[in-house]
Amino acid sequence: LAANISVEELRELDKKHYLHPITPLKQQQAEGPELIFKSAKGLRITDVQGNEFIDGVSALWNVNVGYGRQELAEVAREQMMNLSYASSFFNQSHENVIRLAEKLAKIAPGKLDVSFFTSGGSESNETAFKIVRHYWKLKGKAEKSKIIALENGYHGVAMGTTSATGVPVFKDMITEVAPGFLHAIPYLTECEKGDKSHPDYERSLRGIIEREGSETIAAVIMEPVQGVGGVNIPPEGYLQAVRDLCDEQNILMITDEIITGFGRTGKMFGVDNWNVVPDLMCVAKGITSGYVQLGAVMLSSEMRDEMTELSDGPMFHGFTYSGHPTACAVALKNIEILETEGLVENSRKLGEKLFQGLKYLEENHQITADARALGLLGAISLFKDRDNREGFDFDLHAATAVVELCRERNLILRPLAFGMEAVAIAPPLIATEQDIDTIIEILSDAIKEFE
Ligand code: PLP
Repeated sequence: LAANISVEELRELDKKHYLHPITPLKQQQAEGPELIFKSAKGLRITDVQGNEFIDGVSALWNVNVGYGRQELAEVAREQMMNLSYASSFFNQSHENVIRLAEKLAKIAPGKLDVSFFTSGGSESNETAFKIVRHYWKLKGKAEKSKIIALENGYHGVAMGTTSATGVPVFKDMITEVAPGFLHAIPYLTECEKGDKSHPDYERSLRGIIEREGSETIAAVIMEPVQGVGGVNIPPEGYLQAVRDLCDEQNILMITDEIITGFGRTGKMFGVDNWNVVPDLMCVAKGITSGYVQLGAVMLSSEMRDEMTELSDGPMFHGFTYSGHPTACAVALKNIEILETEGLVENSRKLGEKLFQGLKYLEENHQITADARALGLLGAISLFKDRDNREGFDFDLHAATAVVELCRERNLILRPLAFGMEAVAIAPPLIATEQDIDTIIEILSDAIKEFE
């Protein structure tokens, strides 16, 4: 801490001048920030008072290669000195954005070999919504514009992405959502395959497409594994059923890989777990492990060529920081680290250990259920009566309370409390077996105290 400022002064300045993202205003105004971070290395992060925590959720599920990587700082510095900024507007380019687009084409599934760059997840999904509508419009089908997302899905906080998000609280700030966004119940695999006898058929993707008419639907969007909405892993066959449905109905499939991309689920991309290839794939977060802001939307060169053929002018879409040179340089180095250190494989291997650990919690505590993990993306649900799946009283904020008890034990986890209460665990992909054991031990202690 700078010699001329105390922790209390920082807290007061925060209260006075800083409007935080996703933070209860009353709590921040009454108490100031709970943690003020100062430094971090590996998977450990330290606050201004010198308390060291294990970051068990990689901050916002994004610090995949861990904190404090000298290689990333060095390429950022070098890039800033050589070419601090260059735009890609008006048919200009620069080496790093070209190399990154090429690298992504090599590691992305199937024919996804073209990238559009953004500064994050919301911008990527927002871009995908505009691209699919533009695509159908160019093809003379402007009415093919609706987007179907899933209940419990999270896609960001811009207007389109807020509208696509299927976790209701994120719509509290706005009175009207953007038009043309619909929501289906997730994981009704049999319905998506054509079984109409299910009581919820009408709220499946297929049921909604049948009701609205496929000639009005541009695309379906979903996370390969829902993150914010509960770490919900789809059943075997679901993503393929959606892929087949989209092909059958001539609808584009967008996957939101903002959390699941870059090794989080034990494969380079979430869809690789099921060998499904979407038409558009949105990435961010792990692409730079959070060192700088970057996102991308990937599509196939076939789709790009179709649009080229039908276009006269530019695609009137682009952000000042689309393809920022420093972000691209850091992304390239970050992907190199993921590959050379075998971190995707580590995520897969340790994911099995994490799952065993969560199973252990389920077996040893009365209030835990639904242990789940795919790679290093896992969660455990909390129930007052798990046999009857009765949740805790809302006022108890059970998941938040358990996470606070973990924090008292120097472990940071994330409560998920939209409907069902759960604790999310998603450590950096550099974690060791020992780290996973420590996380599970601390979480177990915290749950015991809460019980
Ligand atoms: N999509 C998913 C699945 C996410 O988890 C997030 C952020 O958590 C976003 C989109 C939004 O990304 P950003 O916060 O970078 O705009």
